[in-house]
Amino acid sequence: MNGKNIPEIFGTNVFNDKVMRERLPKEAYDAVKRAMAGAEPLSHDHAKVIASVMKDWAIEKGATHFTHWFQPMTGITAEKHDSFIEKFGECEAIMKFSEKSLVKGESDASSFPSGGLRATFEARGYTAWDPTSYAFVKDGSLYIPTAFCSYSGEALDKKTPLLRSMEAFNKQALRILRLFGNDKVKKVTPTVGAEQEYFLIDKSVYEKRLDLVHCGRTLFGAPPSKGQELEDHYYGAIKSKVSAFMKDLDEELWKLGVYAKTKHNEVAPSQHELAPIFTSTNTASDHNQLTMELLKSVANRHGLVCLLHEKPFASVSGSGKHNNWSVSTDTGENLLEPGDTPNKNAQFLLFLVAVIKAVDEYQDLLRISVATAGNDHRLGASEAPPAIISIYLGEELDEILRSIESGEEYSAKQKTELKIGVSVLPPIPKDSTDRNRTSPFAFTGNKFEFRMVGSSANIACPNFILNAIVAEELRVFADRLEGATDFNAELDLLIKDTIRNHKRILFSGNNYSKEWEKEAKERGLLNLKTTVDALPHYTERKNVELFERHKILSENEIHSRMEILLENYSNIVHIEALTAIDIARKEITPAVIGYQSFLLKEINYKKRSKIGLSRVLEREVVRKIASLSEKFSYALDRLIHDTNNFNSSTSNLEKAKYCKDKLLVDMEKVRKYADEMEVLIGRDFSTFPTYEDILYSVKY
Ligand code: ADP
Ligand code: MG
Repeated sequence: MNGKNIPEIFGTNVFNDKVMRERLPKEAYDAVKRAMAGAEPLSHDHAKVIASVMKDWAIEKGATHFTHWFQPMTGITAEKHDSFIEKFGECEAIMKFSEKSLVKGESDASSFPSGGLRATFEARGYTAWDPTSYAFVKDGSLYIPTAFCSYSGEALDKKTPLLRSMEAFNKQALRILRLFGNDKVKKVTPTVGAEQEYFLIDKSVYEKRLDLVHCGRTLFGAPPSKGQELEDHYYGAIKSKVSAFMKDLDEELWKLGVYAKTKHNEVAPSQHELAPIFTSTNTASDHNQLTMELLKSVANRHGLVCLLHEKPFASVSGSGKHNNWSVSTDTGENLLEPGDTPNKNAQFLLFLVAVIKAVDEYQDLLRISVATAGNDHRLGASEAPPAIISIYLGEELDEILRSIESGEEYSAKQKTELKIGVSVLPPIPKDSTDRNRTSPFAFTGNKFEFRMVGSSANIACPNFILNAIVAEELRVFADRLEGATDFNAELDLLIKDTIRNHKRILFSGNNYSKEWEKEAKERGLLNLKTTVDALPHYTERKNVELFERHKILSENEIHSRMEILLENYSNIVHIEALTAIDIARKEITPAVIGYQSFLLKEINYKKRSKIGLSRVLEREVVRKIASLSEKFSYALDRLIHDTNNFNSSTSNLEKAKYCKDKLLVDMEKVRKYADEMEVLIGRDFSTFPTYEDILYSVKY
């Protein structure tokens, strides 16, 4: 592969606009474009033509099967492959793909989490083609991106609310643009570029760690003697094995139309990052799911394993997925671009304060949007954003908002007069924001970077919530401004009011500090430390009203989502507890006993030798291990006891609380003693690879 070939291979496995334009009859092409714009559903006749053309194209690309590709609440994608073959006569087969197979699929929903929706509705589930995300060929199958819903239309997946939120956002944002006299824009689309962090380790060490295999994170392991202190990995030269993997991955992604753009080493040893060029939140979300799948499968081909867990190694930096969110118009404008004409700045300011108000009023939803058992280990740890939500705007915007609120003149470097109005804002230089790495929600020039998203998350969730909460504020603003007799005066007042009422969410200091935790509390900001603390807020009245008003989720669907997320949390922690017990019994205990008995034999041997050999070292080590092993044993008993009682809680919330307060705490204790013993035990007596072995497993 060289640079010249990239444009040639880019998107070759995608049934994209170019392919459709070339292959579809004009009428069918126009129909599909209208369907993509949400203007009009596809007719049967057009769908029939499209299915047939799509099938021929897919077969040319080597496909024998097709699958509806969907994103159930399990967090990973689901697929069921059917071949194109149909019976022809008695003993022949032909390749067929009907309009029905393209547009709608039926699948048994009972094996996917529904959070109670199933109790009242049929188990049948439907997948419905999402024409706004292109179909593609992968591993001999035609993949058709679909939404997944129940018999009566309830969303059972992550894509449906995302699509609904994009529609809601479009509607409200257009109202605002019209108020500013903009009649040209027909469509407003929230966009996202998700920077994906991951670890890459050697397969041979991975296979010896049951915790990594079962849970994606280590449940035991003392910190390595060389960690990330030297800061020599971030942006460091990429090892040749990793580089070969990255090249292969880029190529696969490009063929699938994913704009993989940036790759580099991250902070921790064996940690890396991949960032694509941003697209619409729907496409970006599908592409990120694909990226995660390919990270794993390409790694496998290279004898490597890609870890997407948020915190695979305690005391080592975890992995996130910075969610760079902004808003594009179909006329190519970024509505969060500060711009250089005063008119645009007033509009920018309105969108800016809409985001500020949204984040302040829906802190709980944003926290929920990233809440998983895995991400709890990362949020609040010293290298990751805290669980407290705040916004960093950068010095210049901070100053501007302050001057607007106080009515004082804004004095930038180039002294400029500032009133809000439509007329007099100074141009804001592009690099008006410095970086604040500790902020969970930072304005970075012309987009917001939501940094709390976990590395394994499906970004559909944070993005449907972001779209929803900002859409709601735009609605409130539009209502007020549409009714105003003096638009400029009302706009002025609205921006001022919003800054005054929501400035508590702005914070530019160190988010990792203890002082901030205190100050945030005084400001009345939420600090929902764990998933279990956050999830019950999902069903709060204001949140139900928000989602119902914009037809993004019904109350039923919200309840079901909360239940699924709670259940998922408990299941993860329960599996971790069982795995920890298994490792403690079958690997750590034999290693401890084996080493102790080796030392005791040595002591006896020296004692018998009668030449006065010192036994101090052996005795010291035996004594230390004996004392720790006793504590370890008690802690393990407690973990076993509490794990056995896992099923005694009745509700999902109670069960999740039990996991947080008992199982996780018990596991921490067992781990503490195990890790303290690990450093005392001879290398040959341990069966599993240490942190050192894992983190430096890819050597060249
Ligand atoms: P930074 O250096 O601030 O992290 P980059 O330019 O490297 O910024 O971009 C990081 C990510 O943000 C990339 O995935 C990029 O495509 C994305 N991004 C840039 N502009 C936008 C935008 N307008 N909307 C959404 N994402 C964007
Ligand atoms: Mg970034």
